[in-house]
Amino acid sequence: MSASDEDLALWESLRPDIAEYIRDGKIWFSPNSGELIERCPWLKKDSNSSRYLCEIYLDRPEDCRVYPANVSDMVADECEMLEPVDHSDLRRAQAALEKIMVEESR
Ligand code: SF4
Repeated sequence: MSASDEDLALWESLRPDIAEYIRDGKIWFSPNSGELIERCPWLKKDSNSSRYLCEIYLDRPEDCRVYPANVSDMVADECEMLEPVDHSDLRRAQAALEKIMVEESR
């Protein structure tokens, strides 16, 4: 994944904590070691449930904002946001995703 010019400009001015994870327009690299981080550092388990949430949802990269459109794409891309329960019931997972997308579009 990469960061768009708009992402970089926003992070550099308003979210330097995110900008620290960028190297040459690519995401995500450890600010300490400079090594590529395999799992997104902003994906965190919600302390109130077993769900995983994006810690920078409102400021997430453009690539993340346009993806995914559906659960099938997430499965094909081995998306880290999917949980075991989602794989066992893809129709329920799709319904949950659509609900989240509707809520976020409000
Ligand atoms: S949407 Fe997912 S991949 Fe993108 S920044 Fe958030 S946790 Fe990371």
